[in-house]
Amino acid sequence: MQFDFRRGGKKCSQCETAFSPGQAFVSALIEQDDGRTVRLDFCCDHWRESEQECIGFWNQTMPDLTTGKVYWAPRDVLLSYFEHLIDSDQKEIAYVMSLVLLRKKMLTAKTRFDDESGTGQIVVDRSTSRSWEVPDVDVAPDRIARIQDELSQNLFSNQLAED
Ligand SMILES: [Zn+2]
Repeated sequence: MQFDFRRGGKKCSQCETAFSPGQAFVSALIEQDDGRTVRLDFCCDHWRESEQECIGFWNQTMPDLTTGKVYWAPRDVLLSYFEHLIDSDQKEIAYVMSLVLLRKKMLTAKTRFDDESGTGQIVVDRSTSRSWEVPDVDVAPDRIARIQDELSQNLFSNQLAED
């Protein structure tokens, strides 16, 4: 399985200092040499954007989890990640991610495609007119739910996305 996010948002991946509520930190989606994407969190002292080959990153402050108010990562990070899944042919996660983005109305379903590469759904980002082909996959509902749960755990933000 390609999907191997570390559960993030708790401590700096470099110095292992636990974040306290209200502390600023950076979350980044970073592709490993083996093609897996991991989410890593960094305290501000250890985040060096130039050193990281990352798919997307966003600034956060550690949520006070007792308030229960948690949002998703910014739109550009979600779309970069979605594009990365498509480009790297991670069909199952790309499919589930497309469902999430359609539900959030970040993407719109257009026509279906049916060609030598297979069948699937064409989705469009109406703000930029970019479109992607999402191949059909046969995923069991409980597996969809589990991938969705991992996505939401690892792409959370406690701040409203600034679109
Ligand atoms: Zn650190």
